[in-house]
Amino acid sequence: MSRRHTLLGSVLRLLPLIALAWGAHVFGAAATAQDVQPKFRVVAIAEKGGIHKPFVDAAKAWLAREAIADGFSIDYIEDTSKIDDAFLSQYQLFIQLNYAPYAWTPTAMAAFQRYIEEGRGGWIGFHHATLLGEFDGYPMWPWFSTFMGGIRFTKYIPTFVTGTVTVEAPDHPVMKNLPAHFIIENEEWYTYDKSPRPNVRVLASVDENSYKPASSIKMGDHPVVWTNEHVKARNVYIFMGHHGELFQNSAFTTLFHNSILWAAQQ
Ligand SMILES: [Zn+2]
Repeated sequence: MSRRHTLLGSVLRLLPLIALAWGAHVFGAAATAQDVQPKFRVVAIAEKGGIHKPFVDAAKAWLAREAIADGFSIDYIEDTSKIDDAFLSQYQLFIQLNYAPYAWTPTAMAAFQRYIEEGRGGWIGFHHATLLGEFDGYPMWPWFSTFMGGIRFTKYIPTFVTGTVTVEAPDHPVMKNLPAHFIIENEEWYTYDKSPRPNVRVLASVDENSYKPASSIKMGDHPVVWTNEHVKARNVYIFMGHHGELFQNSAFTTLFHNSILWAAQQ
């Protein structure tokens, strides 16, 4: 072997280290830039503990990487006590990470309503955000039900089933790079008293006949991702969100990523 080849070999052996050092540099620079001036600011209200803790924990880990990659900042709250107009005015996007729409303070409810209706920021809600009805001694929040298309929660599939989701609006930015159909495994699939379709723009729906194993808990037309175009805020509701394993499903993470970039622009 010639000396040239040996040198080349040495450089090639060092490449992973060089890449690692470069990566650390870029990573560090992005984190610093984020501290100084994020492109936008996000607040997420996250359920504390309970059955959805693994989902919330996986979401936080994924969002930490997304925040660096996309240059946004993210703060977390675990109840609604801080929410008022001044608090929300700091943020371009509000993410409801499995936080139910009841037991909010009256101030938080009024401020959130203005934020959505007047488009002061965007919104992404997951799973528990449509737990609409009377729960834990609280009445249903009628405005939130209207925001979600005039629905009321009826049932869920407690045994979890796998279903095929169909993209209905492939041209919508939230659906970018998603296949026409994708699989969501072991989901709880809520049903409602009626389809929100007449009142919202449906972006994706689940085929209840694709459930594996089959389930008798069905509602017919079953939207699972939608946006309410009657309010000024860019908003997306994503039904999926029980298990942390969703963050290993590229269709789900693509959907979440697209939703962040779209909803944060007002
Ligand atoms: Zn759940």
